Amino acid sequence: MSLSVSEIRKDFPILGQQVYGKPLVYFDNAATTQKPLCVIRTIEEGYALHNANVHRGVHFLSQQATDAHEQARQTVQKFINASSPDEIIFTRGTTESINLVAFSFGEAFCHEGDEIVVSVMEHHSNIVPWQMLCERKHMHLRVIPMTAEGVLCMEDYKALLSERVRLVAVTQVSNVLGTVNPVKEMIAEAHLHNIPVLVDGAQAIAHLSVDVQDMDADFYAFSAHKVYGPTGLGVLYGKRKFLDAMPPYQGGGEMIDQVHFEKTTYNVLPFKFEAGTPDFIGTTALKSALDYIQSVGMDNIAAYEHELIGYATEHVSSLDGMSIIGTAPGKGAVLSFVFWNIHPYDIGTLLDHLGIAIRTGHHCAQPLLERMGLDVCARASFAFYNTEEEIDAFVAALKRIRKMF
Ligand code: PMP
Repeated sequence: MSLSVSEIRKDFPILGQQVYGKPLVYFDNAATTQKPLCVIRTIEEGYALHNANVHRGVHFLSQQATDAHEQARQTVQKFINASSPDEIIFTRGTTESINLVAFSFGEAFCHEGDEIVVSVMEHHSNIVPWQMLCERKHMHLRVIPMTAEGVLCMEDYKALLSERVRLVAVTQVSNVLGTVNPVKEMIAEAHLHNIPVLVDGAQAIAHLSVDVQDMDADFYAFSAHKVYGPTGLGVLYGKRKFLDAMPPYQGGGEMIDQVHFEKTTYNVLPFKFEAGTPDFIGTTALKSALDYIQSVGMDNIAAYEHELIGYATEHVSSLDGMSIIGTAPGKGAVLSFVFWNIHPYDIGTLLDHLGIAIRTGHHCAQPLLERMGLDVCARASFAFYNTEEEIDAFVAALKRIRKMF
């Protein structure tokens, strides 16, 4: 392992805290990640020293802010290997990125009787916008099934790809199962039928090297807060040929070329899809987060997290009464489980009192939990600042909870 986790942890001030007198063990990284000092400082300095609205002013501060904001776009472009910064649209998050495509792609390309294909393991953000589109346009949603381990059924997927399908929308990594879907192969398969693919990268972006050109994604969505950046900010990558053909999502400042009461014309990419003042402090903070990850190295992060999930799975599986939800080969650093018949909320609350933060609930994936025959489950999700010692504390805590019931 070429990561110095003890050094890395010093960059994340929140991790040094105590909760109820116990050292904080933060295992809720799939919900949101903690922020390194460089990100926090960029936000602080942004407001303290560089704050001015972008793209509008001739004055020094505005030009400085504009440069920083546009540099952040280029950093994102390189991070996911998009071919142009014009294909990087800043949004409020994965959810808004997907809604943008569902609306604008839907307006441009979808008609009554058409179909959208999603998988059974999608987050609600990658289900509901498509349902809304289907309702609006009298279309149908089709669902790729999966095995009990949490692996998508590729033969069923291929069978769904008919000439009625306008778009496939699939997650790269499941936020509940940790399954890493073979998106590159799925995209190649869809492209055989000229069907574009949107990849929900919310759970992949912090854990895998993402290359949108290599996977040939038509759209790729992610949130800054899941990749050690600020909250309230996200990215939509889209191929120019689609973005050019899609109408704007929202109207307002920034997205226009000329406004007259008779007719308004729209700005070029990416601004056509960025109505209103963007979160220009947030984008520079996202740049700091991505620079930080690059300095650690995504391959190092992936290798270390692979060790962590292996260690956690081994130790948790040895507990009597433990069922792990999601056992796909090569899964990411997400461990969902049910433990005896102790309600996951009780497990979450008791772990919390021992300083351990996990998630309980349906994880915004009700159709998936239904498929697994569950209403709710518990989820521990790891990041590269977590340690085996923290996992030991988690396992010891689960044993203690078991004794209480
Ligand atoms: N998709 C997946 C797979 C997710 O895990 C999440 C966040 N839990 C989202 C979409 C939505 O992200 P956000 O709430 O940041 O828009």
